[in-house]
Amino acid sequence: MATEKADALVLRVTDFSETSCVVTLFTREFGKVTGLAKGGRRLKGPFESALDLLALVRLVFLRKSSDALDLLTEAKLERRFRGHGRDLSTYYAGYYVAELLIELTDDYDPHPALFDLAVQTLADLAAGEPVRPLILHFELQLLEILGYLPSLSMCAECGDEVPGTGRVAFGTLHGGALCPRCRVGKQQVISVSAGVIRAMACLADGQGDAWRRLELHASTLGELRAVLNRYLSHLVGHALKMHRHLGPART
Ligand SMILES: [Zn+2]
Repeated sequence: MATEKADALVLRVTDFSETSCVVTLFTREFGKVTGLAKGGRRLKGPFESALDLLALVRLVFLRKSSDALDLLTEAKLERRFRGHGRDLSTYYAGYYVAELLIELTDDYDPHPALFDLAVQTLADLAAGEPVRPLILHFELQLLEILGYLPSLSMCAECGDEVPGTGRVAFGTLHGGALCPRCRVGKQQVISVSAGVIRAMACLADGQGDAWRRLELHASTLGELRAVLNRYLSHLVGHALKMHRHLGPART
């Protein structure tokens, strides 16, 4: 057993007993970690009620060598992310960030850039920045960092350029955009406007903050949600709980 320290974001807290809970966190140093916090439900003690959903904490834990749960020994609250005012969508967006990290990252697979992105996204949400671009940016960056970014400007099958105007076929099961030749006979293909593909490419671009100035028409937003909802659900293997709270998707 080794004692480890990490910056961590609380993703899920499940009651285990009267005083203890099982907590899943996304740490900057180790990736996703799940451990038992004895006394974690007490107001006083080594956790000082720091183990709340989306709290940013300085964590100390004992890493077990076997399949046993890690043992969390201390958590110091660094920052508590709350939604912005009465705007429910900012709360849902925060829960969605946690859901994506739970579903798409593996235990002990660290991604410091993804950790920093999650913290920045939660800070921007708490500061009242527009919710939809923040969430879209988080989704595309997460896909990019984890190596799941769909092919956007080139056909996922043959590598040819896809049309820059009109409608583009997006194959949920085929890794992204498809040229007219390759889309023939394929299942689960969504037709989207070329603007949707361009918006996704802009949101996925890790350089600069052009994505913050991206102007998204309501119909583009609806198509974007439809594509991302389906693509992410396919990756995870089931529907994501928070998708129905992220606004209407155009199907
Ligand atoms: Zn093709």
